[in-house]
Amino acid sequence: MEYLPINIKLKEKKCVVFGAGNVAFRKIQMLNKAGAHIICVAKTIHKDIQQMWGDIVIIQDDISSYLRTVGLENITLIISATGDAKLAQHIFDVAKQQNVLINTVDDQRLCSYISPAIINRKPIIISVSSGGSAPVLSKKIRENIEKLLPHNLGKLAMYASNIRKQVKKTFSSMQDRRQFWEYFFNSSLSSRIINTGLMPDSNDVIEMFSNKPEKVGEVFLVGVGPGDPELLTIKALRVMQQADIVLYDNLIPKEILELVRRDAELINVGKSMGNHKVKQVDTNQLLIDHALEGKQVCRLKGGDPFIFGRGGEEIQALRSAGINYQIIPGITAAIGCASYAGIPLTHRDYAQKVVFLTAHCKNSIDTLEWSSLAQDRQTLVVYMGLMKSQFLVDKLIANGKNKKTPVAIIENGTRETQRVIMGNLYELAELIKHKTVKSPALLIIGGVAQLSNDLAWFQPQNHLKPHLNVLKTA
Ligand code: SAH
Repeated sequence: MEYLPINIKLKEKKCVVFGAGNVAFRKIQMLNKAGAHIICVAKTIHKDIQQMWGDIVIIQDDISSYLRTVGLENITLIISATGDAKLAQHIFDVAKQQNVLINTVDDQRLCSYISPAIINRKPIIISVSSGGSAPVLSKKIRENIEKLLPHNLGKLAMYASNIRKQVKKTFSSMQDRRQFWEYFFNSSLSSRIINTGLMPDSNDVIEMFSNKPEKVGEVFLVGVGPGDPELLTIKALRVMQQADIVLYDNLIPKEILELVRRDAELINVGKSMGNHKVKQVDTNQLLIDHALEGKQVCRLKGGDPFIFGRGGEEIQALRSAGINYQIIPGITAAIGCASYAGIPLTHRDYAQKVVFLTAHCKNSIDTLEWSSLAQDRQTLVVYMGLMKSQFLVDKLIANGKNKKTPVAIIENGTRETQRVIMGNLYELAELIKHKTVKSPALLIIGGVAQLSNDLAWFQPQNHLKPHLNVLKTA
């Protein structure tokens, strides 16, 4: 290990930044966050730094003469960002002689310390360093960690710090205290702080753990979007990676399932129409049973859980059973498919209204208001519409919809296998049959559908080509 990572307390410590350009400004902002007493020395001062006048000391002077006359007495740390190689060497020599920590931007030879890439979830700080060998790689790693660490992690740490004294008073032995913290950080309470930022009353928390130290389970109803794994939300990904058990539907592609925690148990409760694998009541019961065992249960739903996903029914069952739950929205098929097919669902020339409907209802499809659906200047997005497409077309036309209304059928939207088939309303059912369209497929009916001809951009096969080219030339 060539460098030892340490965290320096810079609060009110004198730090000098030599140079006052763009880079120096970024470094000053960082030192400022750490509460340092900053002195910036340079001949010309960037306007952003000038505006910090009052917060920092700005000395407009020749750096060599400053070193000669004022020197580095009582200075804890130096950042050298002059962009002048000869001057940088001189600053480094003086700093070395006086044993002051120095970092010269972009010149590792002239550094007695190097700055890591930082992930800031105050008071939690994570630093990533490649020991100066590959700073861009460190930044990449930081980005990946950023995505995984919840925004409210710092709040959780602050909360823990706030109740620390009380915990110490309540649990006298160190072992009890350790057990409390184990329970607490695994509990639904801490996941609630992370997910919502809301802080529970500290007395309630401590009392709860004193009386009932067992792990409390919780169900996360997670929408994973229409298929492209990159359309997952950061929150969905994090919950998937924390789950003890994952219940999923047929619609969830395997690329998404591969992202769940490696040792989580996976159960397929998938339903395809007419072939109900696990009954809804049994799925509800599975969710309840596993949560009662104290598990973090992740219920994955295609698209958004509350759009034709029976999410409401599952949540009602959980609520009746007194199980804690959280709901994470996802991109619903209508939004995802429309984007990936180049169909703006609203457009001032064609539609001021969008209706999401399903042709697959608990009761009869005939409960839909056909005369309203047949009106112009709206976009109809039909979920689960393949089987009843002819009926849908007949009803719309009988209620006055123009039979030449443009339609688009989007099969496997947002996925590598996406197909977009365009046509007119009267031929919709025929197209589905002739092109052997399979589920999952979405129907978009309305003037906007024709825009796909001009605006389509997602061509899954071509999508890979640029990457391959890069690989070839690398
Ligand atoms: N909750 C889901 C919808 C579940 S109903 C959501 O918000 O998207 C299932 C129907 O959604 C399918 O029959 C199909 O009509 C539509 N659907 C879901 N994913 C799709 C996809 N990738 N491409 C096309 N249609 C899709």
